[in-house]
Amino acid sequence: MSPVAPAVHRRRLLQGSATFGGLGLFGLGGCATAGSSLAGPPTGAMGAAARSFTPLAPVRAERDRIFDVTVCLRPFRAAGPRLDTEEIGDAFVVHNYGHGGSGWSLSWGSGTIAVGKAMSKSPRKIAVIGCGALGLTSAILAQRAGAEVTIYAKELLPQARSARATGSWTPDSRIALTDVAGPAFGELWEEMARTSFKTYRNYLGLPGKPVEWTDRYSVNDEEHSGHGPLKPGELDFGEYADRIRDLTPRWEAMAPGSTPFQAPFVRRTSSMQFNIADYGHTLMSDFLLAGGKIERREFHIPADIAALPEKVVINCPGYGGRALWKDESIVPVRGQIQWLIPQPEVNYGVYYKEVSVLSRTDGIVVQAVEGGDMKGYKNEAEIPDRGETDRAVAVVAELYGSRFSARG
Ligand SMILES: Cc1cc2nc3c(=O)[nH]c(=O)nc-3n(C[C@H](O)[C@H](O)[C@H](O)COP(=O)(O)OP(=O)(O)OC[C@H]3O[C@@H](n4cnc5c(N)ncnc54)[C@H](O)[C@@H]3O)c2cc1C
Repeated sequence: MSPVAPAVHRRRLLQGSATFGGLGLFGLGGCATAGSSLAGPPTGAMGAAARSFTPLAPVRAERDRIFDVTVCLRPFRAAGPRLDTEEIGDAFVVHNYGHGGSGWSLSWGSGTIAVGKAMSKSPRKIAVIGCGALGLTSAILAQRAGAEVTIYAKELLPQARSARATGSWTPDSRIALTDVAGPAFGELWEEMARTSFKTYRNYLGLPGKPVEWTDRYSVNDEEHSGHGPLKPGELDFGEYADRIRDLTPRWEAMAPGSTPFQAPFVRRTSSMQFNIADYGHTLMSDFLLAGGKIERREFHIPADIAALPEKVVINCPGYGGRALWKDESIVPVRGQIQWLIPQPEVNYGVYYKEVSVLSRTDGIVVQAVEGGDMKGYKNEAEIPDRGETDRAVAVVAELYGSRFSARG
């Protein structure tokens, strides 16, 4: 285990912070907040690679290229994801929900823990409730552990909330509150993050690019100036990224003129991204090819689950756990994405003026991220805000209209 990072209030960076709107160490993930990764000196700063010109294709941020606007709720729990077990009638239920803005990133690690608990009962058959990031990965892991698995869910992945995520490696995005989760959570988090990271290795280099590594840029007029204190009313979302600092590259400062971005402070890193259309399809196919069954069903109370034929159940309802389990510890954190038509020639992400952009195979994700982790907190409105769309796309248009020169 790596040493615990010193406690810092990373969530409110001072003006000029070169981060992905609080998408810190892990890049553009729509959810993470300002990372301490920029607090220290960047590695490779002004090195040879940073000096040679890196050509990049521009994003076409035109209003009529917006082909969708989606909204999703992060299932946030101050204490971190629920992974305990309980008996409902004669059913043994293992919970696996409440992963905030880190559900995709932590899914394999969290699922490994949940499946371990489920397999302690040596079941032949397992039921998984939910067909989002957590349900699908838990189901596949349970199959690999030797169980026959049926997924029961109201909505399957393309409709489930997980399909509306950014698709970035953001394992400590709105995953817990520092004080509520306590120091022990850091170890559990690290176990989940490391297991997930390793498992994602299996999905790299495949046709359709379900998972890939891409560069992320941060374009700023002012130099990163360190962490500021939390503002009144702001919550101290837990930061655990330093525990796995060895896994991912750090930010490097780019020499002026070495990228098409015309700003005094341009930084670059690389991060893993999930192209969710293809990745989700891959997961669904893998599950079905291994003999998995899927049944569309809605549950209203826990006793409905106890009535299933399977007596070992992994419960992955995401935000749906709030109603199904009457679990008011789940708080919604709203997030909105505007989708620009895919541009395969754009193979990077960028953060500029509190708007993040990530080019995926299934569309270009544009997100307003002002306010950091507090943005969308306790907001359960799942309807698009057109004003937010206009503002976010206008910022991207400004970046590519006046601060981008393809020839350096
Ligand atoms: C804008 C945004 C961007 C994000 N970006 C990222 C990112 O880049 N990286 C990352 O790691 N995470 C990201 N997240 C977080 C991530 O999307 C969530 O943590 C994750 O989707 C949670 O997955 P889940 O499987 O628990 O829930 P869900 O995807 O909501 O799946 C729940 C499943 O349970 C079913 N269900 C629920 N209730 C019932 C019921 N009563 N009966 C039957 N079935 C039920 C649903 O139909 C569904 O199939 C983002 C979130 C948002 C909002």
